[in-house]
Amino acid sequence: MEKYICNACGYIYDPAAGDPDNGIAPGTSFAALPDSWVCPLCGVGKDMFSEE
Ligand SMILES: [Zn+2]
Repeated sequence: MEKYICNACGYIYDPAAGDPDNGIAPGTSFAALPDSWVCPLCGVGKDMFSEE
């Protein structure tokens, strides 16, 4: 699965790690993230992320 990078702050979403602090289990692809998910560092939405 592809990693995605936040265009605003440089945070990298790694599907292998997920985002457990925000209820996203390891193994969750970027596409499978809920639309309500936001960058855990700066709070922008998924549309601000690019494939790394
Ligand atoms: Zn960010």
